Formats: sequence, C-alpha cells, structure tokens
Amino acid sequence: MQLFDVIIVGGGPCGLAAGIEAAKAGLSHLILEMGSLTESIRQYPRRMRFFSTAENIEIGGLPFPISGVKAGRDEALQYYRKAAAYYHLNFKLFQTVWDVQKEDDLFTVSTTTGEQYQARKVIMATGYFTRPRWLGIPGENLPHVSHYYDEPFKYSFTNVVIIGASNSAVEAALELYRHDVNITVVHRGEDFRSTVKYWLVPDVKNRVKEGKIKTVFDSVVTQIGEKTVTINNLKTGEESHLPADFVLVLTGYIPDAELLRRCGIELDPVTQVPVYNKETFETTVPGLYVCGTVMAGIYTEKVFIENGREHAQSIIDHIMGREVHQVKELIQRI
Ligand SMILES: Cc1cc2nc3c(=O)[nH]c(=O)nc-3n(C[C@H](O)[C@H](O)[C@H](O)COP(=O)(O)OP(=O)(O)OC[C@H]3O[C@@H](n4cnc5c(N)ncnc54)[C@H](O)[C@@H]3O)c2cc1C
Repeated sequence: MQLFDVIIVGGGPCGLAAGIEAAKAGLSHLILEMGSLTESIRQYPRRMRFFSTAENIEIGGLPFPISGVKAGRDEALQYYRKAAAYYHLNFKLFQTVWDVQKEDDLFTVSTTTGEQYQARKVIMATGYFTRPRWLGIPGENLPHVSHYYDEPFKYSFTNVVIIGASNSAVEAALELYRHDVNITVVHRGEDFRSTVKYWLVPDVKNRVKEGKIKTVFDSVVTQIGEKTVTINNLKTGEESHLPADFVLVLTGYIPDAELLRRCGIELDPVTQVPVYNKETFETTVPGLYVCGTVMAGIYTEKVFIENGREHAQSIIDHIMGREVHQVKELIQRI
C-alpha cells in the first residue's frame, strides 16, 4: 500500500486548494476524486456564471484572468485544471472513496473498487453536489426526471415541471422560458425563496406576471408519472395534475453524511454538521479534517468556494505544526 503524508478526498476547488497547500509545504499528497477534476462544476448548468468575482474563487494565489468580472463554468473548469497542472498535483480520478479508517497513527483509505492507500492525515473535501435531496415520491427515478439541470435545448417545445424555488430553480426556469419551453414551477412555499439572487427577482416575477412562467405555490408534487405529475395543494388539500414531459427536481443537495459517519466523524443528528475544531478544521478523529462545503451539513449555502478555499491553509498549518492561519468570521458561522 502506498503511504502519503496527506490524502485529500474530493477534487473540487477546496480539495485542490488543500492539495496546493500540501504541495507548497513539501508534503507528499494524493487527491482521490470520484469523477473528473472539479466534477461538481463540470455538472453545473453549461451557461451558468458564478456570482462571485473571478478573483474571489482563485486558489493557490494564482490569478484568474477573464475578460469580464465573473467567470462562467467553462472558464472555471479551465482555471482549476491549469491550477492543478501548475502545482503538479497528484490525483487519481474516477476513484470513489468508500471508507477511511485509522489504526495506530495511520489512515487506510479504501475505494469502492477495492484500492487502498495509506496516509498520515486525511482531508475530507467531498462537497455536497453528488447528493441531491430526494423527495422520496413515486416516479422520482423515472428516466425523464433529473436532479440536475444542464442546458435548455433538450427541452424546447416540451412541458417541463420544475420542483423547487431557489436560485437553481429560478435560473433554470428563466433560461428554459427563453428557449420555448412550457414551464411550471411547483413549490411548497408561498413564493420563490427569499435567498434568490436579487438581480433575478424582477426578471422572474415579471415573467410570472405575464404568465410566461407558471407557478403552483403552497403545493407539493406527490407522484411523477410518464407524462404528468400529481400535485397536492397544502392549503386546500386539492389534488390536480400537470402535463410533464420532463421533471427537474431542483430542491438542493446535501453532503454525504453516511460517508463521514462511516469514517468515524461525529455529526450533529439534526443539522448533520460535523463536529470540528473551528480553527484547525480537525474532526473528532485526530488527523482527519473537513474542508470546503462538506462541513456545512444542511446549511450548504453558508460554505462556498469563496470562504471554503481558505480552510486549506489552516489545515496544512495545523498538520505542519505552524501557527494556524485564522479564517474570517464568515467561515466560522457554522
Ligand atoms: C450553480 C452554482 C453556482 C455556484 N456559484 C458559486 C459562486 O459564484 N461562488 C462560490 O463561492 N460558490 C459558488 N457555488 C458553490 C460552490 O460551487 C461549492 O460550494 C463548491 O464547489 C465547494 O467546493 P468543494 O471543493 O468544497 O466541493 P465540490 O466542488 O463539490 O467538490 C467535491 C468533490 O468531491 C468529489 N467527491 C464526493 N464524494 C466523493 C467520494 N466519496 N470519493 C471521491 N470523491 C468524492 C466530488 O465528485 C467533487 O468533485 C455555486 C454552486 C452552484 C451549484
């Protein structure tokens, strides 16, 4: 079994930042990633634009030059790939980590395909995007139902039901409406979520007023069929049906709590936030750290690239026995 100073589980922006800090500190490292490099971002809507300015999602001190202010998905993919190459990061892709166990002072990291690696320290940077929040309703696993939205052209001239009313749902609804899609947004609340980006609100509200985007609020989808969805109005109890060639369940994502528990990390039973040291990001298992959005539990909107990328330096400082870089208050709020 190969032994590394540090194994990082997850090759997203925060995992890469940890790899860079490890490399800078002269530690041997391995990043194990279940998909492609920055798999989560690769799965984002093709034409999305980050809300952060490019400089706020830089890693490893490498400038992220773009012609505008905010990067799109493709620019971010190019940037993180170049950052990984520039720092000669050592990674293995398409390796899903199943378990991390500590014996004496060494960790054994096992993958779903039976590979095993050893490390003195392990950093969990598995994010949240691989785990959609399933509704648990009949029909949710049918082929025309997806928990991810990629691009609009597939849906032109069809009936699409979007479940959810957050940023992802609103952005998808607006883009689909502009591609001749008959869109209905179904949401259990009485309006779009208050966290929707302020610059999207007038656009979506005006499209709703014009009847271009239909909304069914105070309602839940109880069943998905081949061509329709069944809806229950939470206020009146009334049942209705809507045509649906495609259903996009955009109700968010959540970190893999089972994986963290399996690795021995304690989690809050309600919020699923791991127990960790707020300065060093070490969990209840000494030498096992959380980094990036994985530490957010159900509060996934609170840790993102902008603040999650900073965890890397504190973790590597702690591993190296250096004075620990103090992350900003913003990051400490979970
Ligand atoms: C549409 C959209 C727009 C966004 N815009 C912004 C923005 O403008 N600014 C900002 O700061 N944030 C933004 N975010 C949030 C941000 O992208 C995430 O918070 C960020 O990706 C977190 O980085 P991470 O490295 O912690 O996790 P991720 O990027 O999710 O990386 C985790 C990686 O771990 C891998 N992984 C998971 N489980 C395993 C396993 N068992 N074994 C091996 N590998 C595993 C995954 O495949 C993934 O590649 C946005 C999110 C979305 C969805």
